[in-house]
Amino acid sequence: MTLSPDSLHPDSQHPEAQREQRLNDLLPLLRQLIPTQYIITEVEQLRAYECDAFTTMRQLPLLTVLPDTIEQVQHVMRCCHQLDIPVVARGAGTGLTAGSMPVENGVLLGMSRFDQIYNIDPDNRTALIGPGVRNLAVTEAAAVHNLYFAPDPSSQLACSVGGNVAENAGGVHCLKYGLTVHNILELEMVTASGELITLGSAALDAAGYDLTAILTGSEGLLGIVVRIRVKLLPRAESCRVMLAAFATIEDAGQAIAAVIGAGIIPAGLEMIDQTGICAIEELMHAGYPVDAAAVIICELDGGEAEVEDELQQVIQIFRELHATDIQIAEDAEQSTRIWAARKAAFPALARLAPDNYIMDGTIPRRALAQVWKQINLLADQYQLQVVNVFHAGDGNMHPSILFDSSNEEEHQRAFELGTRILELCIEVGGTISGEHGIGLEKINQMCLQFNPQELAQFHALKQAFDAKTLLNPGKQIPTLARCAEFNGLHVHNGEMPFPHLERF
Ligand SMILES: Cc1cc2nc3c(=O)[nH]c(=O)nc-3n(C[C@H](O)[C@H](O)[C@H](O)COP(=O)(O)OP(=O)(O)OC[C@H]3O[C@@H](n4cnc5c(N)ncnc54)[C@H](O)[C@@H]3O)c2cc1C
Repeated sequence: MTLSPDSLHPDSQHPEAQREQRLNDLLPLLRQLIPTQYIITEVEQLRAYECDAFTTMRQLPLLTVLPDTIEQVQHVMRCCHQLDIPVVARGAGTGLTAGSMPVENGVLLGMSRFDQIYNIDPDNRTALIGPGVRNLAVTEAAAVHNLYFAPDPSSQLACSVGGNVAENAGGVHCLKYGLTVHNILELEMVTASGELITLGSAALDAAGYDLTAILTGSEGLLGIVVRIRVKLLPRAESCRVMLAAFATIEDAGQAIAAVIGAGIIPAGLEMIDQTGICAIEELMHAGYPVDAAAVIICELDGGEAEVEDELQQVIQIFRELHATDIQIAEDAEQSTRIWAARKAAFPALARLAPDNYIMDGTIPRRALAQVWKQINLLADQYQLQVVNVFHAGDGNMHPSILFDSSNEEEHQRAFELGTRILELCIEVGGTISGEHGIGLEKINQMCLQFNPQELAQFHALKQAFDAKTLLNPGKQIPTLARCAEFNGLHVHNGEMPFPHLERF
């Protein structure tokens, strides 16, 4: 693998000597406020924190600390600030971009013990929670009031809301109800030097710059989120789920664009290719049609009459675009079966190959079929299998490259194919991340997406929050030196990599 964090903490000391020194300096300070059992220094125990779900990149931290009060987080930050020690926050570690992978000889700040729901306010439709609360737990707790938390990543059983904020996570319902950024009101965060500040407010608007939005998607580089006020939504009166099969990718891609073009915003609009359908069906037995080239899952919600009307419109659109089969769930149990199978897509794909490199490019919807076909051509060229299971309604593609990381050559090939796919997304007017963030995984592609002046603004913002560059250093925003090196090595020498593609 060619990726490494930009070296932002040059230190002439040998790493082992530096480690000893830092432990000697830091441990007595941490122990002033953090119970010893919540400071982990044993290598065997630290292994649990060496990577996130992007498992091909690993790094042991200096130590892991597991605070459970805001004062403890402030104390950790003050100690590390005083000693110039980098800090990487971690929620549940389900990230897919090495975002919470530790920094060598840095502190890993585990936020999993902040798992309390402090209150649910049904009148204001909000919940005040700790960042370590699991995504699904918010919806489960709000269910008694017929409310729910809209962002629903497929990892929602495990991932934390703090991680959702840091990655601006999405999910199947974000097409209609927005990403995490649209579903939070207020954040309390601890700065790099240990101050506690509040961003946003419990009211619908807040004066001043919208720092809540800036923090959302900042991947742990600007501050540590310690408390979150989320918005809750009322459950819709009616909800219908359908599964439509198509014989070609083109028809399925056009059907997605046609539904949105007709003015319908489904609660969810997902697409799965044939390999994905077969893998899911084998694991989940949900009745997915294994002979289809693609299926679309469409969920409509709202008032009963409105949903029935939209259902008929969508059926009509799917028929006009040659759907070969349309199943409409008769009850909640059938709907749940269709969705549960979709949400098990990644475990299902994990059975097909030792490793799975999940991409996250977002493109204009109209480009779906074109990009999908181009990805298949690239897959042939790189002799690797690519499976597509994705949030098609918002153009958020998740091509999954299947490979074996124990084969170094194949690993490199998979990584290059991933780079080409991200270039392709940029080429058609899209972006290199829809919801998974950048982390370390896509840091080089930031050099393609943004020019040096734009990257300089990101660095200026980072400096304003974290002048010593101690928070998650080397991730998300590449140094200009890194980009110069990457662009210099870049294979296309400034030419359009996909000159024949239509741009949107
Ligand atoms: C099977 C699977 C399916 C997935 N499906 C989706 C999906 O549909 N949509 C989607 O958006 N993502 C998806 N993901 C990715 C991942 O679950 C999300 O990015 C999630 O938001 C990460 O949350 P986490 O608690 O695991 O964070 P982590 O992985 O622990 O951390 C992610 C980032 O957040 C930072 N961070 C964590 N907590 C804090 C905090 N309190 N303060 C500041 N920074 C913090 C970390 O430093 C890191 O940069 C999926 C992952 C898997 C494995």
